[in-house]
Amino acid sequence: MQSYDTLILGAGTVGLSIAIALARRGRRVVAFDPHRPPHPFGSHHGETRMLRVLYSEGVAYTTLALVARETWMALESEAKAQGVLPEGRVLFHPVGVVGIMSADAPEARRLEQARREYNLSGGPCESLESRRRFPHIAVSTGEIAYWDPFGGILESDLCMETMRNMAEKLGVHFVFGGPLADISVKARAARVTWDTQTYEGEMLVLAAGAHAGAVLRRYFPEWQAPVVPVRKAVAWFPSVRPVSPDLPAFYCYDGDHAFYGFPDMGTGYKVGQHDGGEPCDPGALDRQFRDRDATPLEAWVRRRLPLASPRADRGQVCMYAMTPDDHFICDRHPCWPHVYAAVGLCGHGFKFAPALGEWIAEEIADGRERQELRLFRTRRFA
Ligand SMILES: Cc1cc2nc3c(=O)[nH]c(=O)nc-3n(C[C@H](O)[C@H](O)[C@H](O)COP(=O)(O)OP(=O)(O)OC[C@H]3O[C@@H](n4cnc5c(N)ncnc54)[C@H](O)[C@@H]3O)c2cc1C
Repeated sequence: MQSYDTLILGAGTVGLSIAIALARRGRRVVAFDPHRPPHPFGSHHGETRMLRVLYSEGVAYTTLALVARETWMALESEAKAQGVLPEGRVLFHPVGVVGIMSADAPEARRLEQARREYNLSGGPCESLESRRRFPHIAVSTGEIAYWDPFGGILESDLCMETMRNMAEKLGVHFVFGGPLADISVKARAARVTWDTQTYEGEMLVLAAGAHAGAVLRRYFPEWQAPVVPVRKAVAWFPSVRPVSPDLPAFYCYDGDHAFYGFPDMGTGYKVGQHDGGEPCDPGALDRQFRDRDATPLEAWVRRRLPLASPRADRGQVCMYAMTPDDHFICDRHPCWPHVYAAVGLCGHGFKFAPALGEWIAEEIADGRERQELRLFRTRRFA
């Protein structure tokens, strides 16, 4: 049997971030995953992820986003210096993010609250100014374009590849393939049987993303840590007119719905709907991009993106890992303090991963409670 300090189940976005932060602290880490990241079987694929700093979902997320932004940029510099990131490529494009919403929407009020609390620049733009600055998105009468200058676009596939390479350089051991055959926990140790091999660690971290609900139900049914996988689709729309490559990413609270997207960075405008989606079985996910997936996105693009063709030229299916209150789960098991779950990132967790990785590593390795993670404890479900 092989022994490590920490076993991590899931080498995806958050699993890799935790692995890197623990390895930097000198911990011996092994991470298990059925697939080598980046891959299309979890929540992280599809070229790009938005990084918003001004958050309407709670001021705590702005703290996380500010730290994460710095950490992504530090990772980018380090990866360049070490030759891990190819010359001329970047992880983060600091192009900002613009949010479209009714001027009297509660989200607009909460964004202002976050902006004032952190004394950040940005804020609502007048409609004439927004037409000039954000020609790729239509703002209707009575709406504002809320400008977040610290936001931007992460190249998610490249981020994942870079994190995996950095983790390898730091000595993290990966075991891909599997499957997971068993987990057992005793006082001060946990064991994972992966395929036919058993590994022991002082600490076990669950970071299996949209697949975490099944793992938790099977091995830790007593733990109130509900994670529901939800099927989501995104689509790409060709440009009808070339525009500046520095346009911001965008999101839009449109009535009861929330859409988001990315300007054409060479592969067309990418658009998704944040709300909705059907709960699914990750093992039997319908991965086909269907007409019913395209229809709401095409209708939205027709109304909102004047510089894009309203016909999707390709689409992809992915999963969100949702919790009942849309907040993440980062917590120790109530009875086994050496078992930690970092799951349920609710369709907006990519940007935060390096900050979560750092703080979770502090909790695990240094025994320090990070107050910033208080919102994500599982006792809220009890
Ligand atoms: C369409 C879409 C758009 C999104 N847009 C944004 C955005 O713009 N900004 C943003 O911040 N976030 C966004 N997100 C959310 C973000 O991508 C996710 O929150 C984040 O990637 C989740 O990270 P994770 O580590 O929990 O999951 P993943 O990165 O999916 O990692 C989980 C890993 O666990 C592995 N695994 C599965 N089963 C097992 C098992 N039994 N044992 C071990 N490992 C296992 C999987 O193979 C996978 O590699 C989006 C998500 C989707 C789907």
